[in-house]
Amino acid sequence: MADKQLISIAVDGPVSAGKSSLCDALSQKLGILHLDTGAMYRAVGLFAIKNNISPDDEEALEAVVKNKLADISVDYQDGRQITKLNGEDVSALLRSEKVGAYASAVSRFPVVRRYLVSLQQQLARERSLLIDGRDIGTVVLPDAKVKIFLTASPEERALRRYKQLINAGSKADYNMVLSDLLARDEQDKNRKADPLRAAPDAVILDTSKLNFEESLQEMINIVKAVYDN
Ligand code: C5P
Repeated sequence: MADKQLISIAVDGPVSAGKSSLCDALSQKLGILHLDTGAMYRAVGLFAIKNNISPDDEEALEAVVKNKLADISVDYQDGRQITKLNGEDVSALLRSEKVGAYASAVSRFPVVRRYLVSLQQQLARERSLLIDGRDIGTVVLPDAKVKIFLTASPEERALRRYKQLINAGSKADYNMVLSDLLARDEQDKNRKADPLRAAPDAVILDTSKLNFEESLQEMINIVKAVYDN
């Protein structure tokens, strides 16, 4: 991939499909930066938590966006994404279950989505990016040459998430993890604004029976099929 044109790769898929880690690895292989858009929704969720705003309060969130109270920005240090909220690096605060639940709730609202989608489109105009999220192939980069919809069965995704939690030393119950994941899927698929769905021209990659390396290789093959031709 030696060409100088801007490369935009869109990767979407449900929660715990392995998007973040696979996209990190793929972007390194391709020598381009990875934009994790979930982190941007999480930063808005964190703002709501810090300011005692209910994630269901659309009016309050509309005021936050319109009055520019939650300024989200993204930077890169040594190729890694730094997500900022009002100029402060909040990357380390974004991964908790609570922030994830808030992110999922606030991301239902068109005003929040319009704000973050336009930031993401601006970033993609400035540099080559591999962008992952829920609506990248459908809304953020509808013209991307490479669109991948990464998925796996709910049971397999729940198992991966469960193992991650256990390995991180947290207590976890598989059935709880599965029911949380199904609830998050429902919310992402059924919201009115930019619901989670594969773009008609996306390649669907089901990783239920693939390990990490095999999944990564499949993604590389999909990118190569477009950019090496
Ligand atoms: O991918 P991650 O789990 O970090 O995303 C957190 C939440 O943000 C998701 O549950 C989803 O509701 C929302 N999101 C979104 N659109 C994106 C990225 C994330 O609605 N492009």
